[in-house]
Amino acid sequence: SVRAGIIVTGTEVLTGRISDLNGPWLSDQLLKLGVDVAHITICGDRPADLTAQLRFLTEQGVDLIVTSGGLGPTADDLTVPTVAEYCDRELLLDPELEEHIAGVIRRFRPDTPDLDTGPTRIGIRKQAHVPAGATALPPTGTAPGVVIPAVAGDRPVPTIVILPGPPGELQAMWPSAVASPAVADVLARADDLQQHTVRAYGLHEAQLAETLRRAESEIAGLERLEITTCLRHGELDMVTRVASGDADIYHRLLDVLTEHHGRQIFSTDGSTIDDQLIAALDGRTIATAESCTGGLVAARLTDRPGSSAYVMGGVVSYSNDAKSDLTDVPAEMIAEHGAVSEQVAAAMAEGARRRLKVDVAVSTTGVAGPDGGTEAKPVGTVCFGVAIEGRPTYTVTRRFPGDRERVRTLTTTAALHLVVA
Ligand code: ATP
Ligand code: MG
Repeated sequence: SVRAGIIVTGTEVLTGRISDLNGPWLSDQLLKLGVDVAHITICGDRPADLTAQLRFLTEQGVDLIVTSGGLGPTADDLTVPTVAEYCDRELLLDPELEEHIAGVIRRFRPDTPDLDTGPTRIGIRKQAHVPAGATALPPTGTAPGVVIPAVAGDRPVPTIVILPGPPGELQAMWPSAVASPAVADVLARADDLQQHTVRAYGLHEAQLAETLRRAESEIAGLERLEITTCLRHGELDMVTRVASGDADIYHRLLDVLTEHHGRQIFSTDGSTIDDQLIAALDGRTIATAESCTGGLVAARLTDRPGSSAYVMGGVVSYSNDAKSDLTDVPAEMIAEHGAVSEQVAAAMAEGARRRLKVDVAVSTTGVAGPDGGTEAKPVGTVCFGVAIEGRPTYTVTRRFPGDRERVRTLTTTAALHLVVA
């Protein structure tokens, strides 16, 4: 199989001032191309640290290294010269590239001083240097990317792709990197892998592990299927990878999983609960009435572009008065049953449905903690209501583990599952 390493450079990423978007994005892209990503490392802007990472990945025998960041015109952007030195390649000025970069700057920042002389020109010229024998990838910002073909022999070096740091520029440049001859060569050796995602809700990792253990004796060749599981917001994602020729192994596993956990498995086609909610709405409109989630459900619903077609709005009714004022929950009902009760959850959902004139409304009211728990309703207790046009209002009480943040996140995901169910 083809193995790759990713090096994310930048002191701002290393120190956590910004969180890395490029490593996960590149990893996902490479995975889709059948490449086995063995390492993602982050290093600062010091050349010696980058060299150490290049050496490490070379020793690991990776076929491909992709770097992000450090292609800018300033003195701390040293990725290209550092990699060139590591590969023992001279840096050569590409006059066409120099003119191209100057042209981009002239177009987008016409008021740039000293475009033809001084520091700006020095920066442009710096960015227009390409290692001998390497391919320059057309800039998607000002900086060109670079592909350096692998070298075999006593001092082997894998194929190295150098990409800019700004995620938009990196992503826009990726197709030209993939198409470059040296990378295409590497990718041609990649396995033809099929990847599938199975998502379950309310399934414990231990239960899944037990089913997988039993499946080992039932399904020949199961060990050729790579399985990774990931628990997130109460959902268990299982990602499988298998060579195309062994695709039936996956299908046999899916049969076993459906047999044991059919009720918990909600997606086998890669769709998320958010995708499924839109499909379930099928043109109907939705609104929320939230207490303990304080708008997180509405935020999740409006996360994607175009959500205005079905999300009408939401109410955050945190206090008892707000529950009465904004969703018409009778004060006596709150006094009798408490704000965290299925009665109040139902009234909130119905109130939101009426007030916001929607087809579907979902409500949350619970004890997120750390204070406010009682013996009957400990921290983590959450009541939900789902009011749907033409149906009796549905309510349920759940108890979630963890701290305040976790309770609120689990509640948000649960609300989406309840609407789809
Ligand atoms: P520039 O010409 O903008 O300097 P560059 O290729 O030199 O580009 P960097 O200097 O490493 O890139 O990063 C520029 C900016 O891009 C960073 O300040 C940051 O905002 C963003 N960026 C860089 N790397 C990452 C990353 N791994 N994840 C998310 N954002 C990043
Ligand atoms: Mg920079």
